[in-house]
Amino acid sequence: MNDIPIQPQPQPPRSDTGIQSFFLPPGTPGRPRIARAEGIWLEDTAGNRYLDASSGPVASNLGHGNPRVLAALEKQARAAAFAFPAQFESEANLELGERLARLCGPGLDRAFLVSGGSEATETVIKFCRQHAVVTGQGSRWKVLSREPGYHGNTLGALAVSGDAHAHEVFGPLLRAVDRVPAPFTYRLPANHTAESHARACAAALEEAIVREGPETVLAFIMEPVGGLATGALVAPDVYYRTVREICSRHGVLLIFDEVMSGAGRTGRFLAADHWPDARPDLVTLAKGVTAGYTPMGVMMAPAAMADTLARAGGFMQGFTYFANPLSCAVGCAVLAEMEERDLPGNAARMGERLRARLHGLRDRSPIVGDVRGLGLLMAMELVADKETKAMIPLERMAPYRLQQLGLQHGLALYCRRTNRGTYGDWVMVSPPLVVTADEVDMLADRLEAVIDAYV
Ligand code: PLP
Repeated sequence: MNDIPIQPQPQPPRSDTGIQSFFLPPGTPGRPRIARAEGIWLEDTAGNRYLDASSGPVASNLGHGNPRVLAALEKQARAAAFAFPAQFESEANLELGERLARLCGPGLDRAFLVSGGSEATETVIKFCRQHAVVTGQGSRWKVLSREPGYHGNTLGALAVSGDAHAHEVFGPLLRAVDRVPAPFTYRLPANHTAESHARACAAALEEAIVREGPETVLAFIMEPVGGLATGALVAPDVYYRTVREICSRHGVLLIFDEVMSGAGRTGRFLAADHWPDARPDLVTLAKGVTAGYTPMGVMMAPAAMADTLARAGGFMQGFTYFANPLSCAVGCAVLAEMEERDLPGNAARMGERLRARLHGLRDRSPIVGDVRGLGLLMAMELVADKETKAMIPLERMAPYRLQQLGLQHGLALYCRRTNRGTYGDWVMVSPPLVVTADEVDMLADRLEAVIDAYV
């Protein structure tokens, strides 16, 4: 499946038995039905093919149908598809833990494996809290985070996610604490540069810690390179260094959520590796670790913290599917492919090619306001007016229309859901890390056609 003609097709009607009936109103078009996928291509049951321009929700880092991963999955399934970690150790778990610790580097030594990014967020919060309790810091429980930001959809993860609409609906169920502004670089407050605004956002973190009472603050969680919540926001370097200093000064643990940015996507194994003087205390990963082949989430923690909890009776966490053997075997195969093919290096090179094309599009299109990101974690922000940076009115349903137009042009796109128009509209441009130069060009050609069709 490679170069394909664009075949605009009407979408089939929504079905009432699938999960999409929870999202799409009756009478609206359904999503195309997936038939098969290979490399960076997805094909529906009507034979239309789509370039996987956002790797699903920025997950399919290796593309589809990778023979090594499929072989590892089959081998593990035949050997022991399931064995419960509270009863049996598994070779695949040991190997994945060792690989992740080596790739993450000193201080991120132990991998606690769960079933997705939201579970990883729950896990890291509980881990930090239990560690505080057993080390005599029981007054520390508050987890500060950024607005906007996203760390998952389970209740604990939502409590630390900066999503005003979700808090309006689910707020009574959440124990949310202070959130501090994310350091956007596109729309700046009056009299600010990107740098001075980043410094102000970091200062807001310190103010929040002092306001809450440092002895009550457990951790600060942030996405080092943003995902869907901020459209691949990268802060000026000074932000990372300053946040690290503030957390250290107040004994607050710094957690990087690398669910989207990790596993090679930004050109390094961790996005944190771009800022060595701002090393986090703990990291979460998910998506790219198993590249979408099976569910997986990861908390990476210092050995000393894990050992402290183990000596104090053990970490109070566990799920039926934690350290699942199938996912562990897939994770080992994915990381082996990633290392042998130097996919972070390819992400860096292809990211630059993609960025150049997106900048060209920004320069000539009246609606592309900003292009941002790192490696192959990129996003393009759409605006109603480039001079004023005015956002597109909500009723134009830009994300929905863009996704539909993408399908018509043979592109599977992941666009920001409308968040009551508070922050803007963007589309993630984040193909699998195996993408070639020709495929980057094809993606960019199609994206230009989609943007032109939208105007
Ligand atoms: N954290 C970040 C930064 C994410 O982008 C996501 C998902 O998109 C999550 C957490 C939640 O991961 P999951 O959907 O696997 O639960």
